[in-house]
Amino acid sequence: MNTEKTITVTSPLLPELEEFIPYLKEIWESKWITNNGQFHKKLEESLAEYLGVKYVSLFTNGTLPLITALQALNITGEVITTPYSFVATTHSLWWNGIKPVFVDIDPDTCNLDPEKIEAAITEKTTAIMPVHCYGIPCDTERIQAIADKHGLKIIYDAAHAFGVKVNGESILNAGDMSTLSFHATKVFNTVEGGALICHDAETKKHIDFLKNFGFNGETEVVAPGINSKMDEIRSAYGLLNLKQVDKAIEARKQVAEYYRKALRNIKGIRVLEDKTGVRHNYSYFPIFINAEEYGMTRDELYFKMKEQNVLGRRYFYPLISTFETYRNLESSNPANLPVATRIANEVICLPMYYGLTEEDLKRVVDGIYNCI
Ligand SMILES: *Cc1c(COP(=O)(O)O)cnc(C)c1O
Repeated sequence: MNTEKTITVTSPLLPELEEFIPYLKEIWESKWITNNGQFHKKLEESLAEYLGVKYVSLFTNGTLPLITALQALNITGEVITTPYSFVATTHSLWWNGIKPVFVDIDPDTCNLDPEKIEAAITEKTTAIMPVHCYGIPCDTERIQAIADKHGLKIIYDAAHAFGVKVNGESILNAGDMSTLSFHATKVFNTVEGGALICHDAETKKHIDFLKNFGFNGETEVVAPGINSKMDEIRSAYGLLNLKQVDKAIEARKQVAEYYRKALRNIKGIRVLEDKTGVRHNYSYFPIFINAEEYGMTRDELYFKMKEQNVLGRRYFYPLISTFETYRNLESSNPANLPVATRIANEVICLPMYYGLTEEDLKRVVDGIYNCI
């Protein structure tokens, strides 16, 4: 049995405890612990500035902004989305009584294949919900052109795309709205948390009603809202993490470069390279195993790595379209999703987080070499 320490696939970016304690003292003294307090306001402003977007509304997690965006834009009927994502993307549609229509992905980006979107549009389609998978930008111009032609809204699940820019412009400015997740496993975390990004003050106001039961002032309820307000403690924690997120992204970049250099020339392993003009955030490091060329299946490699106490994650596997709730939809037929089906069977995300040491990286890579 291997007795070396386990290398996990992720590890949260934590603020310095010494810096957090004075913030906690301030919150204790004010006795203002939630409901749009000072830290909440400060974090919304600081995030808008850091991300290069106009309006940020904080949420308690990254799933509620998806659900709320659909409410805010009055989306109904059918929505085109990707099966190659975290299950929350599709669940947000289900919670709004919307029928998900899965469209296949592009193998080079793992994002919705724009070529295949139009064929899935029916008279019931009202929106497209793409995901910037692994933080790799979708082809936002092509998707916008399709949406404009057919009068559709676009909500980007940008849970992986914190800080990602294309030619200096935030990817979060694409489409009608974008959502972020600040879960512990993400590039920037507030323990649990998330945000909804929109482009005008009126919409931001409406979103802020929706995340507070629909209350406008003390006595008026303007819509059937939900409760998804971020509290002061996590907002303060977020302010501290925001100060170190660039350092963390830089460290992740070093990890990505190490992995690419070590693995890009191995037969049967495919890695994703940086795209020109993109400021990546290195949120994940997926590798794709071609079993025939590599001489071992993805699962064989995954379990062999595990024996060496190196944890990868088959992310995303299984496809959302294969889960009980969704598998009977017409668009869930694997014949409709050949690329996503193949990629889900090839992928392993390697350990990726701030704080991985050179020694850790060597063990991950040696583990893969040992399997050849
Ligand atoms: C993490 C994630 C979510 C959900 O975020 P939570 O904060 O965990 O609710 C949604 N979509 C994608 C693509 C994610 O990776």
